[in-house]
Amino acid sequence: MPELPEVETVRRGLNQLTLNQKITGGDVLLDRTIAYPFSVGEFIDGIKNNAIAIWHRRGKYLVAELTPVEKDTGTRGHGDTENSFPASLRLPLSASPPIAWLGVHLRMTGQLLWVDRDEPLHKHTRVRLFFGDRQELRFVDQRTFGQMWWVPPGVPVESVITGLAKLAADPFADEFTVEYLAGKLQKRRRPIKTALLDQSVVAGLGNIYADEALFKSRILPETLCTDLQLKQIENLRTAIIQVLETSIEAGGTTFSNFLNVKGVNGNYGGVAWVYNRAGELCRICDTPIMRIKLAGRSSHFCPQCQRG
Ligand SMILES: [Zn+2]
Repeated sequence: MPELPEVETVRRGLNQLTLNQKITGGDVLLDRTIAYPFSVGEFIDGIKNNAIAIWHRRGKYLVAELTPVEKDTGTRGHGDTENSFPASLRLPLSASPPIAWLGVHLRMTGQLLWVDRDEPLHKHTRVRLFFGDRQELRFVDQRTFGQMWWVPPGVPVESVITGLAKLAADPFADEFTVEYLAGKLQKRRRPIKTALLDQSVVAGLGNIYADEALFKSRILPETLCTDLQLKQIENLRTAIIQVLETSIEAGGTTFSNFLNVKGVNGNYGGVAWVYNRAGELCRICDTPIMRIKLAGRSSHFCPQCQRG
């Protein structure tokens, strides 16, 4: 499952490749990829004739700012896009037009790929967004949990992409302090590993980086949040930020089927401390790494390096 570093890697790729080019249309191959409350037709009509000004990330959500493209701007060269841009669709000029948004959540297996229009369709392609210059952004998603949203101009993003409203602070945000994390953790008596997967506690962590951060902060995954000392929470906060930064620098992980927007696999796999290493030796103390199930998810840890 893509976690914060993978989504951040995708965001950076999208910001290099997709900005300021007119979206000339789209094709939705699986209707339920387009999230409530808008229909497929409303989604395509809403996004068409806009360009993406910039991609943002919050937790594992990608959110792009859309700006209307006026005639003779935002296209590169060829006249063929003129025909798909009738005058009636031009949006009125305004001093500061309210922004529309395109939201994406990759969930379990979603991938955004920037490809040539002629590239053969992968069988799990769910949505195609056509850009000028015969490029397109494809949403490929084997498990079909991924979602896309269109948020009309002037509508608060959180009122349409409702998951954003429940999201905790991003680990890279200023508000993600030791006090903030301690406040979130001390609310409920449950294993720390389970709490770290809760997007209302920390935004963006999943199974891989929760296991890695617990190893680096030497905390056993079963430890109850309410039993953690403030010093341990401080170490945990630092470890969360470090493991995420390391993975972003490496371009995301090779675990599962993560690909960046150019279809290239990341390479964090070579530096994992515990994740997916059950039975292999700890890189610090040579004790075999163990795996247990917590709330239905595998947790990997070193019984020697990690304590309660
Ligand atoms: Zn160890």
